Amino acid sequence: MIMSSISNNLQAVLLDLRTAALAAGRDPAEIHLLAVSKTFGVEAVQEAVAAGQRCFGENYVQEALQKIQQAASLMPTIALEWHFIGPIQSNKTRQIASHFAWVHSVDRFKIAERLSAQRPAELPALNICLQVNISGEDSKSGVTPEDCLELACAMNALPNVKLRGLMAVPEATDDIARQHQVFRALRELKEQIALALQARFGTADQFDTLSMGMSADMQAAIAEGSTMVRIGSNIFGKRHYAS
Ligand SMILES: *Cc1c(COP(=O)(O)O)cnc(C)c1O
Repeated sequence: MIMSSISNNLQAVLLDLRTAALAAGRDPAEIHLLAVSKTFGVEAVQEAVAAGQRCFGENYVQEALQKIQQAASLMPTIALEWHFIGPIQSNKTRQIASHFAWVHSVDRFKIAERLSAQRPAELPALNICLQVNISGEDSKSGVTPEDCLELACAMNALPNVKLRGLMAVPEATDDIARQHQVFRALRELKEQIALALQARFGTADQFDTLSMGMSADMQAAIAEGSTMVRIGSNIFGKRHYAS
């Protein structure tokens, strides 16, 4: 059997994930792989599904809705889990709340409030992560580490969203030591917030997610405690329009 390159790439990424986890003394099963299919068509998703992948990340609402619908009609018996990871405009929250299982890029209370209010009653609570501007760049979206605690407590009290953890897209750098430093800072912030949620709400069991690590910095993210890596180009290849 000739394997598709997506299938080969996926196996290679899973092997790297496992190797990085074991090197860090972690159980590879603690680290979930999100395949970021933005800019690629439903055929690419189908190839990844054939290779065993079930969780997919998307950045653009219109593109994602079309793909979600196509995937459902082409693969009606296979349940896929869709994660929204892109910037959120408030006029898109209803569509996001209706069609995704997770949203990683929540960075304003108003957005979390709308997602909670607009989550269809027949669906389970929407899993959300608070996006943090961890490397402190002016241009990046995300809340400042200083504002995180208060926002997390407010979001944790909303009825139809489940605050699962923190997400970051750090400034790209080849400097491995810097990658570690930034991911470590996100992990420490997550630990601090978990303690505060525990104190305030009596439990922080569901606040279990650190969404960090992309194709260029997955190893460092895993070494520093990532529980969900978001991998696009190392699975699907180079993207040909805006990322
Ligand atoms: C595009 C994107 C990714 C995947 O990036 P790669 O470098 O292709 O692995 C991950 N997270 C977010 C938020 C993205 O926008």
